[in-house]
Amino acid sequence: MATVECRDIRKVYGALEVMRDFNLKVDDHEFVVFLGPSGCGKSTMLRMIAGLEEITGGDLLIGGERMNDRDPGDRGIAMVFQNYALYPHMSVRENITFGLERSGVPKAEIDRRLAPVVDALGLGIYLSRKPAELSGGQQQRVAIARAMIKTPEVFLFDEPLSNLDAKLRGSLRVEIARLHRSLKTTSIYVTHDQLEAMTLADRIVLMKDGKIEQMGTPEEIYQRPATLFAAGFIGTPN
Ligand code: ADP
Ligand code: MG
Repeated sequence: MATVECRDIRKVYGALEVMRDFNLKVDDHEFVVFLGPSGCGKSTMLRMIAGLEEITGGDLLIGGERMNDRDPGDRGIAMVFQNYALYPHMSVRENITFGLERSGVPKAEIDRRLAPVVDALGLGIYLSRKPAELSGGQQQRVAIARAMIKTPEVFLFDEPLSNLDAKLRGSLRVEIARLHRSLKTTSIYVTHDQLEAMTLADRIVLMKDGKIEQMGTPEEIYQRPATLFAAGFIGTPN
């Protein structure tokens, strides 16, 4: 059961408090989007869930277990970043399988897991290329494949489509939604783009200044924004 629970999470950088009173329970198999303007704390919250950033206060539970001090590799999560973060000197294949190789997964098992991942993302003809020989959209597919092959229970995405052009954004958005459904993972997806949030989310967590401003289904937030900020950020019909 891959629930993600944030209980009274707080984060300070020195004297700067960037997150407070963050309470959220993401259900198993749910697709939750953190939506909000630049600087509101979306990445910070996601990185705390991933274990890439220390939690100042409160509790983080994944699958009901407290994760505050657990190593990133031991949380059952995989993360996809905005800038792809591929290894430039490795081939596509090596980029995808490196993590498994490092964890000592046998070669036969790696090959067995690679095939469906490569298939799902249409990467078969690119396996021997280097990242620099791929388009941005193809590079991000490799990054998604690298996350997928870990068979995580929880997928974390930090603005994965922001560096892509509009057409690619649309098609990769559809692929991400499809993968989420077919892999039966729990997904948390960070964006400042309301269209992405509206189309992907089971539930939107609208954030402002390190706090949750409103949460609900896309329909609820769109039709009944609770605050002036929510109304302004989401935009109103007409
Ligand atoms: P978002 O992803 O929503 O754009 P971030 O989570 O990156 O926002 O940042 C939230 C706040 O935390 C911002 O005010 C940012 O300047 C601050 N911040 C982020 N990372 C650090 C850091 N390593 N040191 C100090 N302040 C930081
Ligand atoms: Mg960010």
